[in-house]
Amino acid sequence: MRFAADRMLGSLARWLRFIGYDTLYFNNLSDDRFLALADEGRILLSRNSRLTGKVAQEKIVFIKDNDPKEQLREVVRLLGLRPQPDMFFTRCSLCNGVLESVEAGDVFGHVPDHVWTAHTRFSRCGTCGKIYWPGTHLTRSRKKIGLLLGV
Ligand SMILES: [Zn+2]
Repeated sequence: MRFAADRMLGSLARWLRFIGYDTLYFNNLSDDRFLALADEGRILLSRNSRLTGKVAQEKIVFIKDNDPKEQLREVVRLLGLRPQPDMFFTRCSLCNGVLESVEAGDVFGHVPDHVWTAHTRFSRCGTCGKIYWPGTHLTRSRKKIGLLLGV
């Protein structure tokens, strides 16, 4: 299942990417262009009730909660998603690109020295080039996801 999140749902989009879902997010898209993403087979996620009735009901989810973590639970529950832990952290949270694993040698000079010496496994976004490593941020996020979704 692939998604497109409206401009009010940037944090939700990042969370969905964290758990491995292909999620487009633009903060400057017109309503028409946003709605058109449903034609590409994406489920639209929106807080904008003006869009009610403008797209088939099964292609859009109206998000009620203000809290991004609750929003994530809402989407998982409403759509019956089954997040797979082996898909977590396979996408770039910034741009939705797919992460590829790279050798430490490939990222030398591109991450802080103390990070480079402490890790042997890195991932790089194939789209924007951002480099990720299994540092505290990911560990904390993995825990949060576990607590939130029970996975
Ligand atoms: Zn990226």
